[in-house]
Amino acid sequence: MEHVAGPIHRVPLGFVAAYLVRGQDGEPPVLIDTGIPGRENVILAAARELAPATARTPIGHVLVTHCHTDHAGSLAAVVARTSARVHAHPLDAAVIRSGGPQPPAIPEPRLLRMLGPLFGRIGRAELEPAAVDVEVHDGSPMPGGLRAIHTPGHTPGHLSFFWPGDGGVLVVGDAASRMFGRLGLAVVNSDPATARRTFARLAELEFATACFGHGPVLRGRANAAFRRRVEHLAAR
Ligand SMILES: [Zn+2]
Repeated sequence: MEHVAGPIHRVPLGFVAAYLVRGQDGEPPVLIDTGIPGRENVILAAARELAPATARTPIGHVLVTHCHTDHAGSLAAVVARTSARVHAHPLDAAVIRSGGPQPPAIPEPRLLRMLGPLFGRIGRAELEPAAVDVEVHDGSPMPGGLRAIHTPGHTPGHLSFFWPGDGGVLVVGDAASRMFGRLGLAVVNSDPATARRTFARLAELEFATACFGHGPVLRGRANAAFRRRVEHLAAR
């Protein structure tokens, strides 16, 4: 587990990461995403490190950025072992509740052309259905002092989460990627044009730090790196 900023911690789960937000006033931590299936033990061990000894459950809430199996894959297992409430956007909640089918995964033509289909398959693999307790909309205040931002394009109901402290921390899920240290769009998107508009909209926000589903944390004037990337994408 890597401390990111303030209450936010990164939990590496192989090629994808989850995030834990330490709770306030004796509350258990908030989990953002759950990785691929079978990662519940790693997640619960990390959560117990942050949970107060008196907490009734190691995780109080799970915020799901989107319905792909590499982000919601261990959701059902985490919920089965905690009393966490699950939050997701209604458009992706439908997939999480049913287990599929997943939205289309169109490879980015210029980005990692070879890897697009591979990651598309991982994202679209079978998802164990899970309950969604709270449907989240753009601007919704979230547990852990976060705010939800609807960031469609990677999936229709994709959410990012913003924490306002320490210059702003943006947890972008797959609305942006930093795979192999390279900032850009995800390798697959359900609607590539919308994904581009979402990336540009995120770049207009003020945030010092960006946390990705795939790739290392971007620290220090992270939004400036997003803005440079937007100019680069527009110039192509
Ligand atoms: Zn995804």
